[in-house]
Amino acid sequence: MSNTPTTHDHHLPYAEDDLGEVDGASFSQSAAPDGRSVRVTGTCPRCHGSTGTEFRRGNPGTGTKGLFDRLSGRSGGTARSEPEPEPLHGEVHFCECGHGHPSIPAEVRFVGCGASWRIAP
Ligand SMILES: [Zn+2]
Ligand SMILES: [Zn+2]
Repeated sequence: MSNTPTTHDHHLPYAEDDLGEVDGASFSQSAAPDGRSVRVTGTCPRCHGSTGTEFRRGNPGTGTKGLFDRLSGRSGGTARSEPEPEPLHGEVHFCECGHGHPSIPAEVRFVGCGASWRIAP
């Protein structure tokens, strides 16, 4: 029983907490149907809310800076699933559980508990 049942801790105060590398067992990623973005979903290691972040693949020559641009909003299901390690392990993930945790600043980039982490390879 390595998995302790966890529930989303709505009372956890917001804090910009860098958790470092975490075990990515609860995280998965899937490619969007158009193949140009990758969605990483999982459970926030800090508040245990479900979080998901979409990364768009940049196309060289289209003026996109960097490999991935963060997208806001959530999309539906995916028609195919293609494991691509770059965003899962190469990006810093931020809690986007969508819950306004106590003490959350008025202007935040991601609505969540403020945690950020990397997923260990
Ligand atoms: Zn969180
Ligand atoms: Zn949360």
